[in-house]
Amino acid sequence: MSQRQQYELDVLNPATEEVIATVPGAVEADADTAVRRAARAQERWAALAPGERARLLRRFAVTVDEHQEELARLEVREAGHTVGNARWEAGNVRDLLDYAAGGVERLTGRQIPVTGGLDVTLLEPLGVVGVIAPWNFPMPIAAWGTAPALAAGNAVVLKPAETTPLTALRLAELALEAGLPEHLFQVLPGRGDIAGEALVKHAGVAKIVFTGSTRVGKRIMALCADQVKRVTLELGGKSPNLVFADADIEAAAAAAPMSFLDNSGQDCCARTRILVQRTVYDRFLELLTPAVESVTVGDPADEKTDMGPLISRAQLERVRSYVDADAPGIRGKAPEGPGFWFPPTVLTGVDPHARVAAEEVFGPVAVVLPFDDETDAVRLANDTEYGLSGSIWTRDVGRALRVSQAVKAGNLSVNSHSSVRYWTPFGGFKQSGIGRELGPDALTAFTETKNVFISTEGPAQ
Ligand code: NAD
Repeated sequence: MSQRQQYELDVLNPATEEVIATVPGAVEADADTAVRRAARAQERWAALAPGERARLLRRFAVTVDEHQEELARLEVREAGHTVGNARWEAGNVRDLLDYAAGGVERLTGRQIPVTGGLDVTLLEPLGVVGVIAPWNFPMPIAAWGTAPALAAGNAVVLKPAETTPLTALRLAELALEAGLPEHLFQVLPGRGDIAGEALVKHAGVAKIVFTGSTRVGKRIMALCADQVKRVTLELGGKSPNLVFADADIEAAAAAAPMSFLDNSGQDCCARTRILVQRTVYDRFLELLTPAVESVTVGDPADEKTDMGPLISRAQLERVRSYVDADAPGIRGKAPEGPGFWFPPTVLTGVDPHARVAAEEVFGPVAVVLPFDDETDAVRLANDTEYGLSGSIWTRDVGRALRVSQAVKAGNLSVNSHSSVRYWTPFGGFKQSGIGRELGPDALTAFTETKNVFISTEGPAQ
């Protein structure tokens, strides 16, 4: 398709396959207009007093909170997320804005001792930031980049995924309603190869924050290199869930299903490689089987549903390509009929280098692999090109610390599967990404450090 040709995006409800909206897709000229407008808005925004910027961001947070249910219902319809998850996601946007607002007046440089003068560092905004978001957590991931970027004095142009532009468009309306300046936060719905690439290549964009597949991330990093453009990449994962024989096996088995089934497995942190010490392997599977079978898959708008559909037919076909119908393992139930449904699936007896054990499936599919001892467990856990997250189940504190240090991943949890909090850093090792988001340093990632030396010697005579 030519860069100028107009096109539209059909937004489908993945639980029913009905078209719920049609959105005009942006082309290169739209990206150019958005970036130019953003650049003008950014200058005015950065010139505001920090307290004023913080106050406007807090008002944006309050406005999001007032529309939490509406945003959640929109997320259920366009992304098939369970309503409980969708409410959490809208609340996460509110919290991200609030947390970032608290950082505006605290974004301080340093004073460094020197002779003959005073040396200070200034943390200056970058300018216009391009945020490219995926469809798996459309609202939170859009806000991970947007909230701290705005707080640090930048303007944002957000390119949502093709399948999930609606919550992003609504957030931009709410920003205006809250009093944020026009064009400071714009949404550019469109195809990745058209609108996304136009944003990446635009000389007026100082930084790209990309979350998505490793394949596209590599292309974006290469395109950014051309202009030495700043880039943060949050990419794929194939995270291990290590269960040692000394763990609370009941608790580990009870927690394992939702660690890879939440959001139908369309989660970059999904613990899809369940590694279990051989001596408790049979017992663990015995407990895991009813836990997987009891997961309720169905209408995501129903409060009792644990897992909804996959996002699209393409994703369904992709997930199917990893699972042979007669492969041994555990299968849950999924609805028949319209919608992109796939049952919870755990495969056993799989070679650790088989496609399903090595590649990111991005669906409700995990493998269980046995290991012999701690060394073997760490070797298996690290035997992947990814390094995003992982879990360690053990009652031995020394082992928990040793294994946490040995596993090469950015986000680990012990006796838990939690990995994402807006106030702790998040990001990947190896091919899971580069840079960190969230946490206390989130705003700094959207600044340039400038060093200024002021001589106390007076002008040279
Ligand atoms: P994707 O890479 O296909 O698309 C992500 C975004 O990039 C979309 O907005 C898309 O339109 C855009 N895009 C596609 N091609 C582009 C191009 N050439 N130039 C610019 N933009 C382009 O990924 P997806 O299918 O939307 O999301 C699923 C992937 O995201 C999974 O692999 C998952 O692991 C990853 N993910 C990672 C994290 C993380 O934090 N590490 C979080 C969520 C999802």
